Amino acid sequence: MSEKYDVIVVGSGPGGYVAAIRCAQLGLKTACVEKGELGGTCLNIGCIPSKALLHSSELYYQVEHHFPEHGVQAGHLSFDFDKMMERKRVVVKGFTQGVGTLFQKNKVTHLKGTGVLKSANTVSVDGAEFQASSIILATGSEPIRLPFLSIDEKRVVTSTGALALESVPQKMIVIGAGAIGVELGSVYSRLGSQVTFIEFLPRICATMDEAISRAFQQVLEKQGMSFHLSSKVTAADTTSQMIKLTVEKEGEKSQFEANVVLCAIGRRPYSTNLGLENVGISLNERGFVPINGRFQTNVPNIYAIGDIVEGPMLAHKAMEEGVAVAELIAGKQPEIDYIAIPNVVYTDPEVAAVGLTEAEAKNFGLTVKTGSFPFRINSRAKCTGEIEGMVKIVADGASDRILGMHILGAHASEIIAEGVVAIENKMTALELGNTVHAHPTFTEAVKEAALAVHGRPIHR
Ligand SMILES: Cc1cc2nc3c(=O)[nH]c(=O)nc-3n(C[C@H](O)[C@H](O)[C@H](O)COP(=O)(O)OP(=O)(O)OC[C@H]3O[C@@H](n4cnc5c(N)ncnc54)[C@H](O)[C@@H]3O)c2cc1C
Repeated sequence: MSEKYDVIVVGSGPGGYVAAIRCAQLGLKTACVEKGELGGTCLNIGCIPSKALLHSSELYYQVEHHFPEHGVQAGHLSFDFDKMMERKRVVVKGFTQGVGTLFQKNKVTHLKGTGVLKSANTVSVDGAEFQASSIILATGSEPIRLPFLSIDEKRVVTSTGALALESVPQKMIVIGAGAIGVELGSVYSRLGSQVTFIEFLPRICATMDEAISRAFQQVLEKQGMSFHLSSKVTAADTTSQMIKLTVEKEGEKSQFEANVVLCAIGRRPYSTNLGLENVGISLNERGFVPINGRFQTNVPNIYAIGDIVEGPMLAHKAMEEGVAVAELIAGKQPEIDYIAIPNVVYTDPEVAAVGLTEAEAKNFGLTVKTGSFPFRINSRAKCTGEIEGMVKIVADGASDRILGMHILGAHASEIIAEGVVAIENKMTALELGNTVHAHPTFTEAVKEAALAVHGRPIHR
């Protein structure tokens, strides 16, 4: 007879492994099916390797461009690309092995292989069948491809190949100037590649607040990256050593050439060979698994979370859903405040946002007040020399409640936690502005931006 579990989770990315651990913590007999390495996109080919390479390349860039202004002479400077890549592999391995250890500690059974739904209570893993009262689908997402651009992950790459190049290309074209594109473009630009972005939309990282997005582009341009906006790649020729792209802008065609092309036009949910048809689950028009407010598919004991369902494709969103779905299955009543999910781009400077942009708030028909404060007059930023960017706060004109926080600047990924807490706890701009912030810190720019909502920043 096949083994019976309370819960089987399919996929061990941040959604799946967190769901499995939380289920086990709640006393449910749990298994997690994974066809690749534990940890999913995030740990193996996403958040973690990209941040490892971003940090290594940033150190190099800092020494070259910023040490001299601090009076620090580094002498002859060079980098060992193989060593950077090796370090990235070691960081990734530490995390993926860590998931295995957490599974052992929490008594989650790791079922190695491809999970296929056979019925509402049966998952087959490479042919062996397992029963479960509840099944959680957490199979994640994959890069979107262009039909005329065949990916070899060597010269024409997705983010996966860009994280594993053998050498730094002289010229790189990045198709798509979203978060993944600008992060990986930054890595190679810092290491000496001439990086050109072709972006279909009229601005980069288009979901960002408009003022932040424009300022961000200027900063990246100063670092040497170039941007062609409102431009569409329509054809590719990969037959010669240099890859040639045809780009159309306002009806005009032009040619671009590069040694490596990174296609970073977005990701789509991944449910290939999952057997959804065996249980009667159909995808929606955008390819996502439809769920109700309790993460249930149309088969009530089959749940879905993470990138495979609608919502921002972010690791921490997947993790929160992993916890929430486990608690729902265990009979608890968890809640996720989707408006308080932060979004970060780990470039230098970083960009971070939570809540509504000014334009979104206005589109909701709200009267909006905003306040901003630039880092160039923040005392800590002046001390460290990290003066680019600003904090912008969007508040409701009637209630003063903080609706959004948008940061371009050093340490934005850390500072944004303040905005998350403020929004989650329904704080007003005045309450945040009246909160004591240590001096000198970057977070004082948050306090000042909050006071600026009321037209009374102190240092501006
Ligand atoms: C380059 C890059 C950088 C990123 N950086 C960030 C970042 O800085 N911060 C952030 O929040 N997000 C980032 N993301 C997004 C983040 O990685 C995803 O949102 C997150 O991994 C989604 O988690 P998930 O659990 O839904 O799915 P995934 O992490 O995609 O995991 C799904 C897992 O399911 C497995 N699987 C699929 N089908 C089956 C099957 N039938 N049987 C068994 N196993 C199966 C897959 O092998 C995979 O391991 C980045 C993504 C990329 C590509």
